[in-house]
Amino acid sequence: INPLIFLHRSLLSLVRGLDYVLVHQRWIFVCLFLLPLSVVFDVYYYVRAWLIFKMCSAPKLHDQRVRDIQRQVREWKKEGSKSFMCTGRPGWLTVSLRVGKYKKTHKNIMINMMDILEVDTKRQVVRVEPLANMGQVTALLNSIGWTLPVLPELDDLTVGGLVMGTGIESSSHIYGLFQHICVAFELVLADGSLVRCTEDENSDLFHAVPWSCGTLGFLVAAEIKIIPAKAWVKLRYEPVRGLENICKRFTEASQNKQNAFVEGLQYSLDSAVIMTGTMTDHAEPNKVNRIGLHFKPWFFKHVESYLSGDYTGVEYIPLRQYYHRHTRSIFWELQDIIPFGNNPVFRWLFGWMVPPKISLLKLTQGETIRRLYEQHHVVQDMLIPMKHLQAAIMQFHQEISVYPLWLCPFLLQPGRGMVHPKGQQEELYVDIGSYGEPRVKHFEAKASTRRLEKFVRDVHGFQMLYADVYMDREEFWEMFDGRLYHRLREELGCKEAFPEVYDKICKSARH
Ligand SMILES: Cc1cc2nc3c(=O)[nH]c(=O)nc-3n(C[C@H](O)[C@H](O)[C@H](O)COP(=O)(O)OP(=O)(O)OC[C@H]3O[C@@H](n4cnc5c(N)ncnc54)[C@H](O)[C@@H]3O)c2cc1C
Repeated sequence: INPLIFLHRSLLSLVRGLDYVLVHQRWIFVCLFLLPLSVVFDVYYYVRAWLIFKMCSAPKLHDQRVRDIQRQVREWKKEGSKSFMCTGRPGWLTVSLRVGKYKKTHKNIMINMMDILEVDTKRQVVRVEPLANMGQVTALLNSIGWTLPVLPELDDLTVGGLVMGTGIESSSHIYGLFQHICVAFELVLADGSLVRCTEDENSDLFHAVPWSCGTLGFLVAAEIKIIPAKAWVKLRYEPVRGLENICKRFTEASQNKQNAFVEGLQYSLDSAVIMTGTMTDHAEPNKVNRIGLHFKPWFFKHVESYLSGDYTGVEYIPLRQYYHRHTRSIFWELQDIIPFGNNPVFRWLFGWMVPPKISLLKLTQGETIRRLYEQHHVVQDMLIPMKHLQAAIMQFHQEISVYPLWLCPFLLQPGRGMVHPKGQQEELYVDIGSYGEPRVKHFEAKASTRRLEKFVRDVHGFQMLYADVYMDREEFWEMFDGRLYHRLREELGCKEAFPEVYDKICKSARH
């Protein structure tokens, strides 16, 4: 046999073997490479943010950074506005599982702004740059006795993404979505000018920015409400059986403003655990559970034990650990990647390295895994009026049957932006989060998601835009109110500067 052919064949089978291991035994790669790399990433960003804040250099540098963004936008204009603009943050760094193709074709504007600028306890407002993330914000605010009223759970979610996309947490039944706790946005517009908008100043823009995904301007700072924090969350776990009963109990708990936190984890069509919590400074020592420690069971598994044991329980959880309760297991996504991740031996030895960074998982997933995920995996958050919860769960069950389902209630305020209730009254909604492998034989990514999307449109619900969106343009604008958005795009010269939001988030725009 020709040695060259032999070498070629050997290399081919090695590559195939490696590919097989990467796809089918991904945990090997994740545990050996991604976990240690993720720790290095985390430490670097944490130390950097801490140093900058301690040295108080951020406010001074902030103005300089804004001027740099204005310069880039004006340069783009001077060069003839040849292509649309987008933020220069690489697609793999974002939490969304998809990477925008437009990053390669649009003019990338570099926005390296990741600092907490000021905590004003008198006005009860924190001013932050767009790349500051939730892990960073809680680390600082909670340590000085404050917190955000709505604190989306994953450490890596950024203020910019939560303002321009959306954000939610188990306190949203009182405070609304992340956008509703924001009091001001500072933006660099398509002409390079800097504007501040609030409820009273440039109010149209203030209402149009959330959900616009960076297609009205670049966010350079946001002012967000803060509230006093207490040390513990007193959390009550209640197992509930029967779909009707689950929906009834969940609605009651969400309407009760005495509950500072409400969340449901649905484990099957007719079994769930509903959790209600309050903040407190005093904990009963024998009921303390520090769920964030690396050797503790994954939170959704711990919650499930109340269902299998069929008992109600109360625990005291440190506030910050409560906020990030789903971070270690990325809700329940990590069980598909590291199947033994919740094993006590693994947790004790390696739990402190978990979770791998979503960005690194994306960066290293390769085409085969990406395709497999697209065809056999669902990651969707659908926002539904609470009165349709039961019908919605039935629909999810028929179409995908993914469990657990995340149920998170929120109050949707009337408004004129892209997302608001039908009438002029505030309305209780629920975010149904579905993350995992569909368990129905007839699952077909496009057709099944389209049927879900239709259901959501029909009940005046909304789909979170980080996920795979299969709607066509007409259906999209049936779901979202585009009146103010389109008017402002016309007035602010956005049509030549940024793609329309649909063109940025639709399925064909991302891979
Ligand atoms: C695995 C997973 C878990 C999730 N968990 C939660 C959760 O617990 N709670 C929750 O509320 N949400 C959750 N989400 C959804 C999340 O809210 C969205 O992905 C959100 O948009 C934040 O993502 P990001 O910080 O990575 O922002 P990006 O994806 O970077 O940004 C979102 C959009 O905003 C635009 N944008 C960002 N910064 C700027 C800027 N400075 N100027 C102009 N435009 C900008 C981007 O171009 C993009 O279109 C989750 C999503 C996934 C995939």
